[in-house]
Amino acid sequence: MLKTETKTLWFLTGSQHLYGSETLGKVAANSREIASALDKEIGRASYDEGQPRLRVVSKPVLTTSGEILAVCREAGNDPSCIGVICWMHTFSPAQMWIGGLKELKKPLLHFHTQHNRDIPWDTIDMDFMNLNQSAHGDREFGFICSRMGLERHVVTGHWQDQEVVAEVSHWARAALGRDESLSLRVARFGDNMRDVAVTEGDKVEARMQMGWTVKGYGVGDLASRVDDVPDKDVQSLITEYKDIYSLSGKITQDQAALRRLKEAARIELGLLEFLGDGGFGAFTTTFEDLHGLSQLPGLAVQRLMEKGYGFGAEGDWKTAALVRCMKVMGRGLEGGTSFMEDYTYHLDPSGMKVLGAHMLEVCPSISAAKPKLELHPLSIGGKDDPARLVFTVATGKAINATLLDMGNRFRMVVNTVTSVESPDLPRLPVARALWVPDPGLRIAATSWILAGGAHHTGFSMALNPVHLEHFALMSGIEFLLIDADTTIREFRKELRWNDLYYGIRAKGL
Ligand code: MN
Repeated sequence: MLKTETKTLWFLTGSQHLYGSETLGKVAANSREIASALDKEIGRASYDEGQPRLRVVSKPVLTTSGEILAVCREAGNDPSCIGVICWMHTFSPAQMWIGGLKELKKPLLHFHTQHNRDIPWDTIDMDFMNLNQSAHGDREFGFICSRMGLERHVVTGHWQDQEVVAEVSHWARAALGRDESLSLRVARFGDNMRDVAVTEGDKVEARMQMGWTVKGYGVGDLASRVDDVPDKDVQSLITEYKDIYSLSGKITQDQAALRRLKEAARIELGLLEFLGDGGFGAFTTTFEDLHGLSQLPGLAVQRLMEKGYGFGAEGDWKTAALVRCMKVMGRGLEGGTSFMEDYTYHLDPSGMKVLGAHMLEVCPSISAAKPKLELHPLSIGGKDDPARLVFTVATGKAINATLLDMGNRFRMVVNTVTSVESPDLPRLPVARALWVPDPGLRIAATSWILAGGAHHTGFSMALNPVHLEHFALMSGIEFLLIDADTTIREFRKELRWNDLYYGIRAKGL
């Protein structure tokens, strides 16, 4: 269900009339060339093969405050536009930008580049100097952004340098996530798991800050939709399961088990229809409120996550929305994204690890191999044995991300981890991941806990921390990273400084 509309980034080049039409003609041509190269590079990396993709669109060179104001307003009114990239090829007196920047509602990337890469030592003259002067034109633009206190990302380097393009691309993916976030609707079936603190939060603030609409439903609303699913649809979904997964012998030979699998399929179809009709991109369930459903949705949740829906268990709407935004940001990249929970530890000093899993709900997009479809009793909840996909998560680099409501702001914490080979776990009937967090479990978990990080996370093998850092900045929320360079002493200081910063900001000082 990942949407496939074309989204655009606008490439804006600033200049002024001082240089005459010949120079401005060259500025425009160079600007188009850079925008078209970014379009090719960023577009190639974004989205899936054969799908509409992110485009970088070149706009006419801006030489007056009126033109700047008009294009910033136009960007704000165009739903396809997810951000603007600004570059001052020549000097563009920045007072002209104040009116436009005041009204700019889209994420801003200041691209501090230059059309020519090298200085032509033997031929350089004043005409060349006047044309290629972003070295000071961009400083003037940077000043006004800082003076106005604008949140933006600055990328420095030549536009054909792959490292530079990658940095722009990271920001572009975050802008796609931000765009999704602003219109994201989350369906909650039932409320929060009773008494749990970290999964709670201020939904009004979340709507103001992140754009999320969180709608609550009695699980009966879902149950009645599930009951209405025609048997023939259930039957064809069972056929699909048989085609895709390895079904355990117990299911195919045991009538009671097959009946439970059919119920799981019915839940999947009812849920899919409910979310589709309501325009939802993410949802939550809770095992404490399953009235009218015969089993906890496990298989259904796993398969919907694989289709692109965000999910949070036990009413965790923050993680559900975050997982959805992460899936949108990671689209077309190798590796998947899932809801995850730090479950239990291996504390052997020679190799400490975290075993991550959930009751049932881990997304098959991060599976190493073809998942097995199994039915097992759930030790809590007192319902029928739920169907679930069982698999081990692929090995490699990953991140864990959590979102918290600290009372006066939202805080995102990200930890880089390495998913490692797991021994056989013959008696564990759920999907699981085994990982080593950076810079080692002791420092990682201590830092995470000092930051108030949740047990629920968005776990991604597609994204890196930079994607989420940009996303947090665009959303105006706090961002903390735990990685190979983290020390407890420095992390504690960062927490204190941030408390001070957000305390002052909340008071408007
Ligand atoms: Mn949980």
